[in-house]
Amino acid sequence: MQVPNEGHVAVLAFPFGTHAAPLLTLTRCLSSSAPNLRFSFLNSAKSNAKVFSKIKPDDYRNIKPCNVDNGIPEDHVFSGHPLEAVELFLRAMPRNFENELKEVVANTGTKITCLLTDSFFWFAADMAAEMGVPWVALWTASPCSVSVHMYTDVIRSTMKGIENGDQTLDFIPGMNTICAKDLPEGVIHGNLDAPFSQMLHKMGLAMPKATALAMNAFEEIDPTITKDLKSKLKMVLNVGPFDLASPPKSYSDDSGCIRWLDCHEPASVAYLSFGTILTPPPNELIALAQALEAQKVPFLWSLRDTSKLHLLEAFLQRTSTQGKVVPWTPQLQVLENSSVGVFITHAGWNSVSESIAGGVPMICRPFFADQMLNSRLVVDIWQIGASLEGGTFTKSGTMRALEIVFSSEKGKKMKENIGVLKAKAKMAVGENGSSTKNFKTLLKVVSGCEEI
Ligand code: UDP
Repeated sequence: MQVPNEGHVAVLAFPFGTHAAPLLTLTRCLSSSAPNLRFSFLNSAKSNAKVFSKIKPDDYRNIKPCNVDNGIPEDHVFSGHPLEAVELFLRAMPRNFENELKEVVANTGTKITCLLTDSFFWFAADMAAEMGVPWVALWTASPCSVSVHMYTDVIRSTMKGIENGDQTLDFIPGMNTICAKDLPEGVIHGNLDAPFSQMLHKMGLAMPKATALAMNAFEEIDPTITKDLKSKLKMVLNVGPFDLASPPKSYSDDSGCIRWLDCHEPASVAYLSFGTILTPPPNELIALAQALEAQKVPFLWSLRDTSKLHLLEAFLQRTSTQGKVVPWTPQLQVLENSSVGVFITHAGWNSVSESIAGGVPMICRPFFADQMLNSRLVVDIWQIGASLEGGTFTKSGTMRALEIVFSSEKGKKMKENIGVLKAKAKMAVGENGSSTKNFKTLLKVVSGCEEI
């Protein structure tokens, strides 16, 4: 495919949770297919340092990290509220991005020819229109969750006054099995006026203005929702799963996780991780530890040192041969290791997607945001995992869930189902697969070769 010699893509990243990393992955895929395009990656200094430290300079020669103001006043004293840094950042945007964009254009002497942003940034619709360039939005989660935000007004008016959390969203294509209680906070429950809720609402309204919506998913995972999104948006491009489409060239494993896994029987190990932000409450951590010990399951647990309670110390000593607890794992490689039989997860989208790519059934303990939706998809729609009785970790409930996945007919079926989904994912990123075709279209849009 012919790509123009000139072009400057401004990439606008959301610097919290696991958002900037998948956007950088997509940027790297685009930049290696179009080495003559220039990419400026606008993100907070802290997040840029983190995501660029994980890749080698040779892998991002035409991508320049550019730091934007994080919105935290110099004399700011944090109150300890978990969303404080996020809300300060939201308050600083779009001004911080606009300022940095001016700098980038002045410093490089090249104007912006495309905006590629985290889809959270609704304001990019007007920014791109003013610049006369395409706006490509990346939704880093599932097609189902972006659909929820597109239908927020319909959900609010249809479900007004409905108290029953089990009420389904059967009035939206592809959501017959999704319940009111699965919705992220800020759609019908929680503080609808909170800055984060407002951002998601505005995003849903702005999405039809996007030249293209890209997603880290594949069409075959949710055909009904993908079809519906296509009927509403200008262009919908599932280009994932990223971990299969562009597997990392190298990884670090300072704690020797893979060596440890290699010493275990196939499908015998429980892998535990709750993503980059959260830690389950102390009582649940303890119940989980008790269940692993009682069930005598070998386990690999990604647990930050700050989350290790003194109550867990005795458990860690007693189980030092049964399990391995480390602050960080090379999760992609862990889930690809044949010894892993179950992933105990918070059901963050990246984790779910990586578990599908590895063919590992899950036990889901969702906490917030899109995690309840993802868990519903995993457990009830795709049937590739189990939930917990009562929704939280108790010793008996966790033991039961482990038994289901490891030793029941239902668990066997889950393993089969996830094998089928994995095969579809592999096909999607294969030579003539749907994600590969969509990526080629995306490349044309980003490099200015597509009519918009
Ligand atoms: N991750 C990892 N090693 C760990 C824990 C997490 O590599 O020990 C990565 C994991 O592979 C995934 C991301 O962190 O890509 C977590 O993303 P997810 O969307 O699941 O959760 P979030 O961090 O956004 O809550």
